[in-house]
Amino acid sequence: MKESNMSYESFMRNYFAMPEKQAVKDALIITIFKHSGNIKEFSSGEEIVSELADYFSLSMEQRNAVLERIYRKERRTVKTPLWHRLLYRAANELAKDRLITRPTETARLTGKREWLLTEKGIDCALALLRIPQTQKEIISVNSFEIQKNAEALKNALKPDHYNPFETAERAKKSLRKASIRARGFRRAVIEVYNHSCCVCGLKLCAPNALCWEVEAAHIIPHSHRGKDDLWNGIALCRLHHWAFDAGWFSFSEEYQIIVSPKIKTLPENFGKMNEYDIFRNTLATDKFMMLPKTEGLYPDKKSIEWHRKNILCN
Ligand SMILES: [Zn+2]
Repeated sequence: MKESNMSYESFMRNYFAMPEKQAVKDALIITIFKHSGNIKEFSSGEEIVSELADYFSLSMEQRNAVLERIYRKERRTVKTPLWHRLLYRAANELAKDRLITRPTETARLTGKREWLLTEKGIDCALALLRIPQTQKEIISVNSFEIQKNAEALKNALKPDHYNPFETAERAKKSLRKASIRARGFRRAVIEVYNHSCCVCGLKLCAPNALCWEVEAAHIIPHSHRGKDDLWNGIALCRLHHWAFDAGWFSFSEEYQIIVSPKIKTLPENFGKMNEYDIFRNTLATDKFMMLPKTEGLYPDKKSIEWHRKNILCN
């Protein structure tokens, strides 16, 4: 029935008028990007397979077409969905060009068998979607390099004499490295704090579940050469991130919340959401901040002391 796998496969591809390979590759990059940088391998990610089929408005016939491989000696026939095969081939080529990493390579880093974008893959998606490069710093799309950086931060052992300030030499590193470091920091902090604000506990994601409301905050800010690591970072919701940077509150040596005495001078109708006094209710002095599970990743006391002395408004 078949002369060679390739000619049979191209025959089937033409017969069912399947989309061109380059178009499938582009659609794949865009889809992974829209899924925050990673998708499950095709054998276990049916929803992705159909999402990509929808992208090309494939007919039921195209979706259900199968390739049959006949193994005469063993007298068996193996059926592979043609669309799966085309997706796999496209992904395989993208992986060869280092635009994505293969599920086996990703699994070595994260334990999950997924196709994951690389930095080069993000650049390619931005170009295809005509999104300016400058947006790269604010979108929450993951890449292999970012995840690698985040894993290194989560697994790092704290030095005995930890210095929360960046040395001048490190601050001079290339823009690309600085960008990966900043995005890796964001990812690691949010993961370690379980996507929740360490003050009020708010955990909220976008309706498409692609990004989180919570932000990674530097305790000693970047403008004061504060480091991009877990000992100088905490996860805060937008309200508490703003209030922390503005000096409305800080933490004690024991990680208790210290509220600025200025709160007494704040007009009574300030800090309320309708009738609910969100500001005063969530910022109660002596309440403890929520800490990471691993003690070795708690914020550094020197970083917090610096914040208390330099940012907290007395
Ligand atoms: Zn909060």
